[in-house]
Amino acid sequence: MTVKDYKSSFLRYFMVFGLFITLLNSLISYNIHLLYFEDTLTKHTQKPAVIHPVTLDNVPAPETLLLDTLKESDKESDLIITLLVAFLSLFFSIPLALYVSRTPNKLQKELRDSNIELQRFAKIIDRYVITATTTPEGIITGVSSAFANRCGYTKAELIHQKMSIIRHPDTPKAVHATLWKTILKGEQWVGEVKNQAKNGEPYWLEQTIIPVKNEDEEIIMFFMSVGIDNTAKKELERLALVDKLTNLYNRHKMDESLIMGVEEAHSHHQPLSVMMIDIDHFKPINDTYGHPIGDSVLQRVAKIITENTRKSDYCGRYGGEEFLIMCPDSDEKGAMRVAEHIRQTVETYLFDHVSHLTISVGVATLNANDTMMTLIQKSDQALYCAKNEGRNRVVAYVQTE
Ligand code: GH3
Ligand code: MG
Ligand code: MG
Repeated sequence: MTVKDYKSSFLRYFMVFGLFITLLNSLISYNIHLLYFEDTLTKHTQKPAVIHPVTLDNVPAPETLLLDTLKESDKESDLIITLLVAFLSLFFSIPLALYVSRTPNKLQKELRDSNIELQRFAKIIDRYVITATTTPEGIITGVSSAFANRCGYTKAELIHQKMSIIRHPDTPKAVHATLWKTILKGEQWVGEVKNQAKNGEPYWLEQTIIPVKNEDEEIIMFFMSVGIDNTAKKELERLALVDKLTNLYNRHKMDESLIMGVEEAHSHHQPLSVMMIDIDHFKPINDTYGHPIGDSVLQRVAKIITENTRKSDYCGRYGGEEFLIMCPDSDEKGAMRVAEHIRQTVETYLFDHVSHLTISVGVATLNANDTMMTLIQKSDQALYCAKNEGRNRVVAYVQTE
């Protein structure tokens, strides 16, 4: 509360009390005045002055004279009392006004303080919490500054847009389907979502989407989304699964994926093939051109592999200059075709410094008795055959007995 507010409040109450006291005072004064005036009138009009010669008979009795004197003094004391009352009222009205003006001002102060606190809280939320509200149809109605900063769009660019404006194409459709199914049922959804910023950069949010219903809990009024940026955590997770040099999956991730892939293929009676790739005569490349050139060759081969496989395939660096590809839903024929395409691409590619090089590939396709381990062994055996047969070729595993 400012000093100005307090003063104006005090003056307001003081004026009210002052006015009240003035009225009271006027009333009292008016009554006394009436009394006094009446008395004078009675004396001068109703009882006309008759001069009674003072004789011994009509000499006023000493008590009468005393009474008159007393009456005069009554009027005077009335006036004094009135003035005293007015003074006292005025005297008390000041602290009274002071006291009364303090109470609402105190409440007003508390209200203003809690309002300031709320505003401060709202500012913190706006700045640090990635939050947005949408209509039940997914149209953005409000976003926090943190939300806008994270995705790189301005608030104005986001409002009235569909929430899918920040959806990353990598996010499986099933994730969004489950999300919508859950929230439209009026239930809260919690999960990790990969989003895409305005500049195309991906970012991850651990998102909670809350359906906000009306008072009767019947209709969904809007959805509120609160997200925690876990891009850094996701990046660490990713780094634990990928090979730093080639950016392909590492052996640990490949083994994990193979266990899952084999299990899934068995349970859904779907085909699954793997191919083991090894660079031919790679050691002389290192020896002749040095390790950095050898590394760049590994990176280039990895790129060729990625560019010539499907999104649903799993590509990894399995050893020094060995690569493994798992192709779900692929039979031997399909896998052989892909392997041959990769082999030809490498063969014809003009590598920096090294010029040309070749690869050998062993292909194995899952049968009913295979495990992840036997499948790997089969592809390894096929690769061994390819090497033995002269390198730069694709060989499919053949059961010998
Ligand atoms: P082969 O045709 O029989 O496969 O012959 P090779 O020379 O390719 O086979 P070998 O297994 O003898 O050589 C593999 C080489 O790969 C040996 C090693 O120095 C090299 N190597 C393994 N990891 C890396 C790596 O990360 N960077 C580089 N530059 N070289 C690597
Ligand atoms: Mg080799
Ligand atoms: Mg090797």
